[in-house]
Amino acid sequence: MRKYIVAGNWKMNKRLSEGVRLAEEINVAVEKAGALKCDVVIAPPFLHLTEVSKAVGNKVSVAAQNCAAEASGAYTGEVSASMLQSAGIASVIIGHSERRTFYGETDAVLAKKTGQALSCGLKVIFCIGEELSQRDNGRYFDIVKSQIENGLFHLSADEWKNIVIAYEPVWAIGTGRTATSAQAQEVHAFIRQTIAGKYGQPSADDTTILYGGSCNENNAKELFAQPDIDGGLIGGASLTAEKFIGIVTAF
Ligand code: PEP
Repeated sequence: MRKYIVAGNWKMNKRLSEGVRLAEEINVAVEKAGALKCDVVIAPPFLHLTEVSKAVGNKVSVAAQNCAAEASGAYTGEVSASMLQSAGIASVIIGHSERRTFYGETDAVLAKKTGQALSCGLKVIFCIGEELSQRDNGRYFDIVKSQIENGLFHLSADEWKNIVIAYEPVWAIGTGRTATSAQAQEVHAFIRQTIAGKYGQPSADDTTILYGGSCNENNAKELFAQPDIDGGLIGGASLTAEKFIGIVTAF
């Protein structure tokens, strides 16, 4: 069954004590909100994962923002999927546009990272999305299709069950320029159709596809009302408990 998810990507924000405080505030707000239609995920920096995990109850799960492409060894500064799993982390964001742009992560590297994560039992939130020039020249369908094909379509149908897609148009991330609900729905429907072409309609219907890009407590309701938008990956608005809970309760 398709799940609705709201996931907060804290990026490189918050000192440790601030991160723990934010996690506690989110946890209290989630508890207060009662029954929710979505799963709630927060993705703090690596250093915070263990303390943040202790600060939340079972209604909030904790994800990493990245993992290594290799299993172990001489890779200074890297954190492996197995280490994440050993720390009780359930999922990992892979392929965020900031990783692709600032750290040169190619589809091939992201495919390896995904393989590592899945083999360690982690779920993967896999990010895709076009840049502004690619939107303007009408190439956005080709771009998201090739990102999915090259990053993920080597997976078996069984492995696919642990994949969540996050469609994040790069021009909408951190810019305040949200995709309209119609623009987002158009691409989400296309992504689902692309998945159906490879894994079949039932698997495509079961796949959670999140929208990301300046999603906030004011526009979430309209975005989440679209038939192929199953929640959000939230950057800026996930750094304040009040805003984040406004998104979590927007279904
Ligand atoms: C993101 O970086 O995943 C994101 C969606 O950021 P923002 O919500 O700030 O646009």
